[in-house]
Amino acid sequence: TALNAQNLAEVGSRVPVPGYDRSAVTAGVVHFGVGGFHRAHQAMYLDRLLSKDVEAAKDYGICGVGVLPGDARMRDTMASQDCLYTLVLKHPDGSLEPRIVGSIVEYLFAPDDPEAVVEKLAAPTTRIVSLTVTEGGYNLDDITGEFVTDTPAVAADAAAGSDAGKLTTVFGLVVEALVRRRERGLEPFTVMSCDNLQGNGHLARTAFAAFADLREEALGEWVREHVHFPNSMVDRITPATTGDDVALVEREFGIVDAWPVVCEPFTQWALEDSFGAGRPPLEEVGVQVVPDVEPYELMKLRLLNASHQALAYFGRLLDHELVDGAATDPDLKPFVRAYMDAEATPTLAPVPGVDLDEYKDTLEERFGNPHVRDTTARLAAESSDRIPKWLVPVVRANLAAGRDVHRSAAVVASWARYAEGVDEHGESITVVDRRRDRVMAAAQRQLGDDPLAFLRDRELFGDLVDDARFTDAYLDALRGLHDDGARATLRRLR
Ligand code: NAD
Repeated sequence: TALNAQNLAEVGSRVPVPGYDRSAVTAGVVHFGVGGFHRAHQAMYLDRLLSKDVEAAKDYGICGVGVLPGDARMRDTMASQDCLYTLVLKHPDGSLEPRIVGSIVEYLFAPDDPEAVVEKLAAPTTRIVSLTVTEGGYNLDDITGEFVTDTPAVAADAAAGSDAGKLTTVFGLVVEALVRRRERGLEPFTVMSCDNLQGNGHLARTAFAAFADLREEALGEWVREHVHFPNSMVDRITPATTGDDVALVEREFGIVDAWPVVCEPFTQWALEDSFGAGRPPLEEVGVQVVPDVEPYELMKLRLLNASHQALAYFGRLLDHELVDGAATDPDLKPFVRAYMDAEATPTLAPVPGVDLDEYKDTLEERFGNPHVRDTTARLAAESSDRIPKWLVPVVRANLAAGRDVHRSAAVVASWARYAEGVDEHGESITVVDRRRDRVMAAAQRQLGDDPLAFLRDRELFGDLVDDARFTDAYLDALRGLHDDGARATLRRLR
């Protein structure tokens, strides 16, 4: 059965479907970056809320927005399926838990009509603008933390100003909508980042206010003062959808869905209660709405995301295509746990209501779930946005406190080795990174007479290259990777 609104009753005889009246739902949330994660996480929570028949919920349906050319495929899928999709949770015992999610009620593809996106954002019904535009999507310099103003797309959007038909970036679209709301006497919406960045709300504020300053004197100040940017910690491992997943949904449930989402059963969302124009009662569906998310964020980024980086490069060098293989590898598993215990944990403050040992045990189980089929290649993509944001802060905190950094240094070395682009059998490794050329060139230089070449990129590593406590450990690991291979190096290091 093709998945669409008309067939929903028939589909509902086989899997749970929305029981609420979708035609009565208004899009109070406009979301940029409708990918796998948004559909497995935020859209799922709002679908849960709509299912609870809470009166306020129906004002918080989602209008998805795509801004990149590649989002045309999502536009077409959403159009043919009335924005419905199948979410399949894959339990560790192999059982599947499907549900049709109905909380996305509209989808706009900005390149088709940027003006329509701005008007949607400016509509009185819009209360929240949420984002999963990836770690690199905020356009911030890794070292200075400042918004990069000379990116061609950003400069073009700043110059276009209120000529909405020319806007191509999330910054141009959102800021123009804020200007229109101010002119019309409407309160600004809240901008809610759900990307894996420490202080994601603060970073979103920095980026949008800096863009507003580019557009118009004093507009940035107005944004800083009037727009709310809650911080959040988001967690649910969501691999990219594969052809096998599409086939599985058809085979198991008889549903023809062009773009389902599969993910692990675990989910967590800690959200700062800072909203200007109202928010849905998310605490009713398991979201931790808290005054301060920082302890949750640091726990998650330094234990989960940074450990993922250890699994990615060492895992690939050990020939693990899938993350569960890497996470249960007899030499990699103890190394990752030792990183968590000896290097990440000492940098964390106590997290209210969380036992860190249990959290780490759960992480090991989640990483080892054989059914999720997450790939080391996915975790290794965009490393240059990830290592500096997730792992380098752990190194800095430990160096400042005079603690051990040798495992973190080895993870950075494993990335440097990976970026050489050839594995231990001489097979090529496809490096996916927006800074690919630069990173791969540096990795080639380390094979010549400058073994620290990779670390000399100060935009990524700051001054780590000047600290012998770090570079000694890094060089030791890199030498091991070159001379003895990943397995022998791991055995020696953990
Ligand atoms: P995805 O590739 O499925 O979707 C990414 C979406 O972001 C796409 O719609 C893409 O067009 C859009 N996008 C990318 N760069 C953009 C830009 N510069 N401007 C506007 N839109 C842009 O990826 P995903 O798995 O959905 O992950 C997206 C983000 O969600 C991650 O980068 C991360 O910050 C966060 N996240 C993901 C997971 C996960 O397990 N996948 C878990 C927690 C958090």
